[in-house]
Amino acid sequence: MSGVGKGVASSSIATCLQARGLKVTALKIDPYINVDAGTMNPTEHGEVFVLKDGLETDQDMGNYERFLNQDLPSINYMTTGSVYQSVIQKERNLEYGGKNVEVVPDIPLEVIRRIKQAQKDAKADIVQVEVGGTVGEYQNILFLEAIRMMKTEEPENVAVVMVSYLPVPGSIGEMKTKPTQTAVRMLNSAGVFADMIVCRSPIGVDKKRKEKIAKFCNVKVENVISAPDVESIYDIPLHYEEDKLSHGLLDTLGLSTRKSADLSAWKRFVNRSKKENDTVKIAIVGKYFNSGEFVLSDVYLSIIEALKFSAYSLNLRPEITYLAAQDFEDKKKLKELKKYDGILVPGGFGTTGIQGKLNVIKFVREHGIPYFGICYGMQLAVLEYAQNVLKLKDASTEEINPKAEHLVIGVMSDQRSLIANKDMGGSMRLGQYLTLLKSGTHARKAYRCDSVLERHRHRYEVNPDYAGLLEDAGLLFTGTSPDGTLMEIAELPKETHPFFVGVQFHPELQARPLAPHPLFSAFIKSSYESD
Ligand code: GLN
Repeated sequence: MSGVGKGVASSSIATCLQARGLKVTALKIDPYINVDAGTMNPTEHGEVFVLKDGLETDQDMGNYERFLNQDLPSINYMTTGSVYQSVIQKERNLEYGGKNVEVVPDIPLEVIRRIKQAQKDAKADIVQVEVGGTVGEYQNILFLEAIRMMKTEEPENVAVVMVSYLPVPGSIGEMKTKPTQTAVRMLNSAGVFADMIVCRSPIGVDKKRKEKIAKFCNVKVENVISAPDVESIYDIPLHYEEDKLSHGLLDTLGLSTRKSADLSAWKRFVNRSKKENDTVKIAIVGKYFNSGEFVLSDVYLSIIEALKFSAYSLNLRPEITYLAAQDFEDKKKLKELKKYDGILVPGGFGTTGIQGKLNVIKFVREHGIPYFGICYGMQLAVLEYAQNVLKLKDASTEEINPKAEHLVIGVMSDQRSLIANKDMGGSMRLGQYLTLLKSGTHARKAYRCDSVLERHRHRYEVNPDYAGLLEDAGLLFTGTSPDGTLMEIAELPKETHPFFVGVQFHPELQARPLAPHPLFSAFIKSSYESD
């Protein structure tokens, strides 16, 4: 069943294994045809995460990086589309030597090749593979076949964990194991047998039910792991270890490590996150929050987590509010922003909510409310400054109004032909690039060094022709690409505003529980400190 938290379960398992002193890498398989996650609507699929080397992936990769405190390469992410694409490309390159290329075994073999490559590249003791989707559906059957083939070839080197949901129907108040028994049978019919079952449920699994699951699902009782709902996802590795999850898995894999699980740094982070500290109130003004009756915060998952890590590290309790940008098209609403200690405008695309965001930015700039603009949030801060301080009335971004007189934000030159050819998949400026930082700035003070590598995902940029004018009017570009042509950071000096910083990149992608991001920490600190 989707939504049981398989991604977080996988991340937590990886954390538990890493805590045993093993080198762990984590790999995600998504069963859709999209070659990567970059073309998917975030309101349906959640945030698009960007790896260091530029691949656009599912948000689970972000969870893995955060839980493992480690960068992951693009070999660690695949979709049905990307696997088929490689197989077809190899066939075109005559790499199959004239043989028939078949869905089975050639697709599963490509999956296995990638899993093995990921192990080699990372020199990992353990590769953890998450197969997306649900047992019993058509879409992931070739991936289960890959797992079956690997297990048949090297049974002692493959352990299968099934994440299952155990409902507690309100009418009877008793945990039901039957859906799990059925799921195990469905998994078995694909030739795959679980070594461990992680039991997601509103409450913990008692001894009696663990024994029942063990008996009917053919696993050792100590490999039935209780995974009740918890207050925070970061509690999960600690819960798993209470049930000795890493012991069960290492036992299955025949890996003897002398080290017992050391989750002490993780525990310190979790404890800090639960302390009764002063609150810092941050509002995220975005356009992707509303879906029918629901508020979707998954779209901004990495940003929300980054805010939390920095707040916890400063012994603060973050109170995060989601505000729909569209609501601020009505200027009367703007005064509500005074309730918050800091305002963040995240990345985005297209026209929806733009006027609302521009109004918000003008308000916080004029009222000295700390502001952090990420990607689109930076471009719009630059645009707002051009419109209202430089008084360039017909200023716009080429993304919204390509005919405007002053294209303060323009399409990057190498993007123009890509857009014209509708070459839109994986073609933005993606991944890690170097930014040089100027001294005496918010950025330099936060990072405490003169250059940084940050991850990107954009097609538009600050038009360098306007950079000088903007700087003369007081908005400084304090971080640029090494050749000085690409504006990576814009900020107002401390003398004019307590914290007004926009970044072209996505710092949230590198924020980790055990390594909070310095710019988020600087934003949280000034939000808390300024009146
Ligand atoms: N839409 C803008 C661009 O493509 C910003 C992208 C973003 O916020 N990730 O440049």
